[in-house]
Amino acid sequence: MDNYMNELVYKLMDSRKLETEEYIYLIRYRDHDTEELLREHAVKVRKENYGNEVLIRGLIEVSNICKNDCLYCGIRKSNWRTERYRLSEKEILSAAETGYRLGFKTFVLQGGEDAWYTDERLEKLIRQLKKRYPDCAVTLSLGERGRESFERLRAAGADRYLLRHETADREHYRKLHPQEMSFEHRMECLMALKELGFQTGAGFMVGSPFQTTENLARDLKFLEEFQPEMCGIGPFIPHHDTPFSGYSAGSVELTCFLLSVIRIICPKVLLPATTALGTLDPEGREKGILSGANVVMPNLSPANVRGKYLLYDGKLATGAESAENLLNLKRRMEKIGYVVVEKK
Ligand code: SAH
Repeated sequence: MDNYMNELVYKLMDSRKLETEEYIYLIRYRDHDTEELLREHAVKVRKENYGNEVLIRGLIEVSNICKNDCLYCGIRKSNWRTERYRLSEKEILSAAETGYRLGFKTFVLQGGEDAWYTDERLEKLIRQLKKRYPDCAVTLSLGERGRESFERLRAAGADRYLLRHETADREHYRKLHPQEMSFEHRMECLMALKELGFQTGAGFMVGSPFQTTENLARDLKFLEEFQPEMCGIGPFIPHHDTPFSGYSAGSVELTCFLLSVIRIICPKVLLPATTALGTLDPEGREKGILSGANVVMPNLSPANVRGKYLLYDGKLATGAESAENLLNLKRRMEKIGYVVVEKK
């Protein structure tokens, strides 16, 4: 570690922010010592805010029908090989019931942008979930919607909304998405969600095609300024039936480094060790937690649809990634000195 790097590391730890140029230097020239120092500090910050607790969220993948055509995503509309499904209200409630019995206090409803989920249907669903499980939080991750729609979902009782910004660079955004989608709209959605009082989640993929160190530095700058309540980051993993099938997967090591940096710039952020991280590395979840993450999101979707929500090749939905195997996850967390808690 050179003197300048040392200076940056301490500046980041003390002030919780850096200039974009400095983030670039930090990412580009990091070495083992840089990673270790920041990791240790991230774990300290994590402990100050969350002790050794790991929060769990039950992920219900409500539909893989999507009107969008994101170039990286396995359930993009052009992928005619995907067998499409949509869970009924009854199936979603039943998944939540299973989750509640297992000890989950947060349900995350994630899906493609499926027009069947109108505001009316979602309001009804959210109200029922909140009525049945008043001690639980409802998180939505259903893509971009209009402000009025978000407002209605919030009024119906939804607590949180996850909408990764995907990249904070307009040009990079255009390379990952079809022309019809816009960086501006995604950002507008994020601003609206925050204003409406949702606990809001941003995030991005690490190693997505065309991503530069400058892009990642911008992502960090964006997180530093936006201060999301949640942040999902995971390595990009190619899906064989997408235009990005030939690109290589992102790095586990860089993802973990960025988890540490994010924990430092957003000390209280709910930061998952994502499924993608667990998919690329059998020890991925542990590595994520040991880098400053504090959330895991096991899969609660009905067994018959799990294989169909295939965002990328090899996506895990079994073992410690499956809600039924909570015991397995608990043991794995205990082995590294952490404890899974039933908190929303
Ligand atoms: N339709 C919702 C949910 C998208 S899926 C939305 O637009 O927010 C959740 C996240 O999975 C995406 O935000 C994206 O960052 C990630 N993802 C999609 N394809 C991926 C891939 N090939 N590799 C890694 N992560 C991927």
